[in-house]
Amino acid sequence: MRELQPASQSSLATLRRCARKYLYEYVNGFKPKTTSEAMWFGTQFHDIAAHGYRAWKAAGTKDVWLEAALTYADNLIDQAADQDDFEVIAQLGKVKEVVEYFWLQLGSKDDFDEIVSVEEPVAVDFYGYKIRGTLDVVARKGAMLIIPDHKTMESVHVGYEFFPLDFQGWLYRWHIYKTKGASAMFLHNMIRREVPPGFGSRELRIKKDGTPAKNNASTDPADYLHREKLWCSGQELRAFESELENTLRILEFRRSTGVWDRSDLKWGAQSCGTCAYRTVCKAELAGHTISDSILTSLYDRVEDPFEKKPVALKPPERNALERNAVEDI
Ligand code: SF4
Repeated sequence: MRELQPASQSSLATLRRCARKYLYEYVNGFKPKTTSEAMWFGTQFHDIAAHGYRAWKAAGTKDVWLEAALTYADNLIDQAADQDDFEVIAQLGKVKEVVEYFWLQLGSKDDFDEIVSVEEPVAVDFYGYKIRGTLDVVARKGAMLIIPDHKTMESVHVGYEFFPLDFQGWLYRWHIYKTKGASAMFLHNMIRREVPPGFGSRELRIKKDGTPAKNNASTDPADYLHREKLWCSGQELRAFESELENTLRILEFRRSTGVWDRSDLKWGAQSCGTCAYRTVCKAELAGHTISDSILTSLYDRVEDPFEKKPVALKPPERNALERNAVEDI
C-alpha cells in the first residue's frame, strides 16, 4: 500500500489558488526568507489570543482571558526590551492594543459554555493523503460546536459575499463532522490591524471646547471589527468531501504529469502582486532562468515544506535584493 502523502490546510488552499505557487512552495520547498508584516502581525495576534483562550479553558471562565493574554504580550515585550529592540517593542505594543480592543468590543461578549480545545492539531487520512492543520479554538455552546477564527486585516470593509467559499472554514467543519459527528459553526472574526483614536496609545484630537475634532479617524467599532458566522448542513459537508477528493485527484494528476499551471489574479490579498513567488514566476514566464544565488537570497530551501515555522519575535525586514526584485515587477 502506498504511504500517505503529506498535505495541509494551507497547502491545499494554495493549490486551489494557483498550482504554480504550490510547485514553488510545496514541491521545490522554497520558503520566503521573510514573512510579510501582515502575516507577522496576524501570527502574533493568534499567539497572544491563544494564551487567553487557554486560560479560559483551564479556569472555566472567560474572566481570566484578558489578563492572561496581556501578560503573555508583556512577556514578549520584555524579551524585546532585553535586546533593546525598540522597533519590536513598538510593533508588539500595537498588537497588544489590537488584542485588547478585540476582546473588550467583541470577544468578551461570547458566552460559550466551554472552551473544548485550543490549537488542536488536525490530521485527517483521506484519499491517500494525511491532511494536517490546526484548529485555533473549538468552543461549545449547548449542543453546538463553534470554531472561532481570527483574521487580522488592513480594513474590515471587504466583500463578504464569497466568504462561504472559504476553504479553511469548510475543511475544519468537515473535520469536526467526521471526527465528532456534528456540524459546527465557523465564526470568522475580522480584526483591523489598528485601534480607533482614543483607544490605547492612539491619540484622539480634541477641540478647544473639549469635544473630539472632526479630523479624527472613525471611532466606530464597526470600522475595526467584523464577524461572519458560517453554518452548513451535513449534506453540504458531504458535497464538500467530493470536492476535496476532486482537489486531491487534481494534485495527483499534477504530480504525475508535472503540469503546474499559473492562475493570474490581479487584485486582493491573494493576487499575484502579493505572491511571495512573483519574482521567480515572472522571470520564468519571460523565459529567464533565475540563478541559484538569487533564489538563495530570496528563499530558504526547506526539507519539509509542510512543517510550520515558529513565530519570530521580530517583524520582517526586506533585504535589498528582495526590494529590488519587487520594485522591478
Ligand atoms: S505570481 Fe501569480 S501566477 Fe505566479 S505563482 Fe504567484 S499566484 Fe501563481
